[in-house]
Amino acid sequence: MLDSIRTRLTLWYSGVLALVIVVLCGVAYFIFWRSAVRRTDLNLVELSNSFLVTLRAELEDQTGPDVFRTAAQEAIDEHHFRDTLYVIAEETGRVILSSQETPSSNAQPKHPRKPVLPSNSFQKFLAASVQSDRLFGHIAVTEAGYRAFAQRFSAKGRSYTLIIVQSLHPQKEMMEEAGAVFAWLIPLAILLASGGGYFLARKSLAPVVAMSSQAGRIGAANLHERLAIQNEKDELGHLARSFNGLLNRLSESFDRQRRFMADASHELRTPVAILRGESEVALSQQARSPEEYRESLEVMHHEAERLTRIVEDLFTLTRADAGQYPLQPCEFYLDELVAECVHSARTLAQAKKISLRFEGAPESPIHADESLVRRMLLNLLDNAIKYTPDFGRVTVSCQRNGKEYAVDIADTGCGIPAELRPRIFERFFRADKARSHSENDGGGAGLGLAISRWIAEAHHGRLELTRSDSTGSTFSAYLPVDSAHSASPG
Ligand code: ADP
Repeated sequence: MLDSIRTRLTLWYSGVLALVIVVLCGVAYFIFWRSAVRRTDLNLVELSNSFLVTLRAELEDQTGPDVFRTAAQEAIDEHHFRDTLYVIAEETGRVILSSQETPSSNAQPKHPRKPVLPSNSFQKFLAASVQSDRLFGHIAVTEAGYRAFAQRFSAKGRSYTLIIVQSLHPQKEMMEEAGAVFAWLIPLAILLASGGGYFLARKSLAPVVAMSSQAGRIGAANLHERLAIQNEKDELGHLARSFNGLLNRLSESFDRQRRFMADASHELRTPVAILRGESEVALSQQARSPEEYRESLEVMHHEAERLTRIVEDLFTLTRADAGQYPLQPCEFYLDELVAECVHSARTLAQAKKISLRFEGAPESPIHADESLVRRMLLNLLDNAIKYTPDFGRVTVSCQRNGKEYAVDIADTGCGIPAELRPRIFERFFRADKARSHSENDGGGAGLGLAISRWIAEAHHGRLELTRSDSTGSTFSAYLPVDSAHSASPG
């Protein structure tokens, strides 16, 4: 059950809501209580002032031996309310008169009360009150407690302190009632909100459920289908768009793979067919001269070589795609490697009377995979010679431009038509299929440039066709000087 996002959302929501409500109710309860106490304090001040007015009036009216006591008693009787206690104390803190000793007939308390005066709490307040002109305090006798206010006054030339104590019982009762209401209101509110939250979560997650069942139906057979987007701008719209983007990429990659397989099998079919045909012919004819056998074997050997090359290239690209072609970088001099490659290609060039020239370069130390860089250079040289007519010219140069080496291989070949230039690095792409398949040119399968570009990129460099027109083409390979750090494994 907890595995459902709906349930988890609802639980989280209800939990957070419960916490917020409880905290808010707690704060409200505290504020109410504070305000009730403040109102009680105001009431006490008013009572105190009106008591003193009455007392002064009585003092003027009274005659006799103990005028102050009689007037104070009169004032107490006049002001005696339920749950309110008047105490008059001398400067020394001795209580002269208190309403608790003379309970008023009409002011019987509802609940039996503990006597306030003898309590420790009151005695402490009394002691403190004679020290100051005005003082508020709390007297903890019963559970609800009392609020007390003390005010100093003078009469007949002497100083007294009037203390009025009022029970907080009614306020406490009111707060308890509010607490009881909170006690059932909070769970009810949380319950209702949880129901609403669950409903909302269900409603807002419904498109996700629909999307996931739609996505579940999409497979290799119907990879063209896409998720329906209800609102492009909301989060689910984003999710659907991202998912559709993923499907697009997958679909493209599937298409590429399919094309790759089709091209690969097509490329492999030709040499295999030649091998089979040639061997069948050789085996079917009984009496053949050794020259004829030799010729057949040469053809078969040539095709077997071609087959090996294609299979090796395919294997390289597949491993490169899977990121399983670890580079083996080492320190070497790029200028020396270029010179070596030019030397190796000399025989090929001589066969076509092509002038092959390396313009030389200063010392160019590099940290890279030597065999891969060699393969790239040989591919480029091989192409340059292959696509340059007899008596043409191939020029190789190597120079340092800032933080990278640039190796340029320029030929005076046929050039590449502008519309085909962007595609020459694609796998199995050949600008002129008939020519590339001819027996003399080595039978390229259209993988050489794809592999060469991968080699450059694996070293965090790049391979570009920098010039191609009717006078020839120039391929430029850029390799970082600091290839040791930039070379990536695969
Ligand atoms: P291939 O094995 O056919 O040479 P590549 O991947 O090496 O395959 O080259 C792809 C295509 O790019 C070639 O078929 C050719 O048409 C074109 N190409 C490559 N290098 C040159 C060049 N130096 N001059 C003209 N065309 C070239």
